[in-house]
Amino acid sequence: MDKNDLIVVAGAGGFIAGALVRYFHDKGFTRIRAVDKKPLREWYQRTPGVECLSLDLSDADNCRRAAEGAAEVYNLAADMGGMGFIERHRVDCLRSVLINTHLIEAAWRAGAERYFYSSSACAYNTDLQKDPKVRALKESDAYPAMAERGYGWEKLISEMFCQEYTAERGLPTFIARFHNVYGPFGTWDGGREKAPAALCRKVVEAKDHGSGEIVIWGDGTQTRSFMYIDDCTKGIDRIMHCEKLVATPINLGSSELVSINDLATLAENIGGVKLHRRYDPTAPKGVAGRNSDNTMIQEILGWQPDTPLKHGLEKTYHWIESQYRDRKAGKVTVS
Ligand code: NAD
Repeated sequence: MDKNDLIVVAGAGGFIAGALVRYFHDKGFTRIRAVDKKPLREWYQRTPGVECLSLDLSDADNCRRAAEGAAEVYNLAADMGGMGFIERHRVDCLRSVLINTHLIEAAWRAGAERYFYSSSACAYNTDLQKDPKVRALKESDAYPAMAERGYGWEKLISEMFCQEYTAERGLPTFIARFHNVYGPFGTWDGGREKAPAALCRKVVEAKDHGSGEIVIWGDGTQTRSFMYIDDCTKGIDRIMHCEKLVATPINLGSSELVSINDLATLAENIGGVKLHRRYDPTAPKGVAGRNSDNTMIQEILGWQPDTPLKHGLEKTYHWIESQYRDRKAGKVTVS
């Protein structure tokens, strides 16, 4: 790709797309258009020299404006959050189908050379995720389909849009199924945050309030894997530029499986405290277990996300701690 080709990144006011914009900027790309429906002052990060547009991409005209002249389009815009959000806002999650529907059409009409779609492990059949000692999910496990209600089904149908735009209209599309992504500049409070950020914040809060206690959703035995943001941006780039992966959904996630209890212990160790755990069985907890089978990505790309959770969580914890302090001091913060 020429460094002066136009890259369009949708959802850039949020966590992953915001980091992706910075990644391409740091690689020397000179024309990046970042788009998000949030007003610019609410974007999690802004990269200098990048064109930033505040547009609602569930609208077809706005998608045309966003995709104009694009060589590559990355769709990371979605109404989403952690378990607490996606279990309670299924309609909002489903409505994200409008974003991909209009954006892929606009990208194709604009003559884009490549289109990326951010799918999710929530697209996998939930029947396969009932045991905390889960067998890692491989790409073929999405069908027969029984995706996460709302959010997961939107991901599956949008994946299919991508595959059919490739098959019928010749637009090369690339689809990554992300498994929980975490890191600095991610949502850490307000109801959309995911487990790693939520647990880091709860430890910081417990220390600040001197409560000595932390609330854990469910019984803490649920298992997951967590991918550090730098692995995610690197993986998106590699997947988007791999000819073997046209219209082929692939896992992009860590295969380091931990329980939510383990994750809480890690956060406590980083914070240098030991807290009493109060378990909330009524809180949303999602599937019992989920891990990423990385056989395919290892075979095709010769690489897989490899940042140890301990290292990534340390950086995340310290960032959240400073955000917490800034917010207390009345400064503007992310989320
Ligand atoms: P995020 O909420 O931080 O970012 C998403 C952004 O999309 C937000 O800034 C939001 O304002 C924007 N958006 C929502 N509706 C829009 C619209 N109509 N028009 C324009 N912008 C709109 O989420 P994220 O964690 O950065 O996730 C990015 C993508 O990755 C999403 O597609 C998400 O489903 C997927 N994903 C994320 C994770 C994860 O762990 N973070 C896991 C699996 C999949």
